[in-house]
Amino acid sequence: MEFIDLKNIKNVSEYEKLEQAGKIIREGGLVLFPTETVYGLGANGLDSEAVKKIYKAKGRSSDNPLILHISDIEMLGKIAKDISDIEFKLMNAFWPGPFTIILNKTDIVPSSVSGGLDTVGVRMPDNEIARNLIKYADVPIAAPSANISGRPSGTSVEDIYDELADKVDCIVDGGRTNIGVESTVVRVIDDVVHILRPGKITYEQITEVAGTTVVDKHVLGKLEDGTKPPSPGMKYKHYAPNTKCVLVYNKDNNVTRTKLGTLIDNCLKSGEKPLLMCLSDNAKFFKDKNITIIDMGNSLDEISKNIFTDLRKADTFNADLIIIQGVSTEGLGLAIMNRLLRACNYNIITSGD
Ligand code: AMP
Ligand code: MG
Repeated sequence: MEFIDLKNIKNVSEYEKLEQAGKIIREGGLVLFPTETVYGLGANGLDSEAVKKIYKAKGRSSDNPLILHISDIEMLGKIAKDISDIEFKLMNAFWPGPFTIILNKTDIVPSSVSGGLDTVGVRMPDNEIARNLIKYADVPIAAPSANISGRPSGTSVEDIYDELADKVDCIVDGGRTNIGVESTVVRVIDDVVHILRPGKITYEQITEVAGTTVVDKHVLGKLEDGTKPPSPGMKYKHYAPNTKCVLVYNKDNNVTRTKLGTLIDNCLKSGEKPLLMCLSDNAKFFKDKNITIIDMGNSLDEISKNIFTDLRKADTFNADLIIIQGVSTEGLGLAIMNRLLRACNYNIITSGD
């Protein structure tokens, strides 16, 4: 297995090290690489056999489609067709960046990439390592988040090394990713933008660019049994630690704090071990309780950057219950709550009693 260390790049000439990784992709291998959102598990997006290796390595269901990553706009015309004005407007506004758009696919995109659908998710990442890798590969790279299916996504090589190192041909280490949650995924239907997965590009930003925008009801709500979701990924368990989790949120932090305190005390009284994941001010407030506390940070950017590492870390303390503080769903908060609700299997408490 090749290991390319690009953690502390001092000179752009160092990107030349990616030539080898690009060749591995072009020739059908798997490469773990950073983007600005999370790490990707990449393969040649036009090679059906290579793409199948991704599903196998992740244990991902074959009907859950992959996103194609491109380095420039010329690549777009090869893989997508019938692009509307609003779709172009969105791409212009948010590319390169943490923004994926579902488009009608052309015939060269294998059905293994699109999970059998006529559409394909496309993104141009805002990360030099990712874009140079795609350039060297000279093909769009199909890449889901780098994690075993169901687990929190990988945002540093350390987090996913044990999980994936023996399943890939090359690892490119670019340090911890900046954003920490996966890209915003949208689909435009009749000029209305539907947010299928929230991310760093927010509902508010999309509305400003494209007008009418709706957040799909499954972003914060559970998929009812037997319903066909607008995005296959909504069907599957995701982000979940192995330990049972509960999410606590009220817009009044005093109410949230009271509930966190009650849950901690109830656990301790019944001889169980709680673990608290909360914002910095509450971490300080509860510091004298004899429990493990993971400080998620203060700002939404900080929380998002560390959320998957925090969820992975929370699992290592052998707790009986992980108690997680939620955030408001405004701005980047929507993406954070989408991931936390799923991590907690929608087990959320919104009152202080
Ligand atoms: P990941 O590959 O882990 O970043 O997840 C990609 C997400 O995008 C999954 O939830 C997929 O279901 C969704 N997705 C990818 N392609 C499509 C598509 N053609 N239509 C709808 N959702 C898609
Ligand atoms: Mg994923």
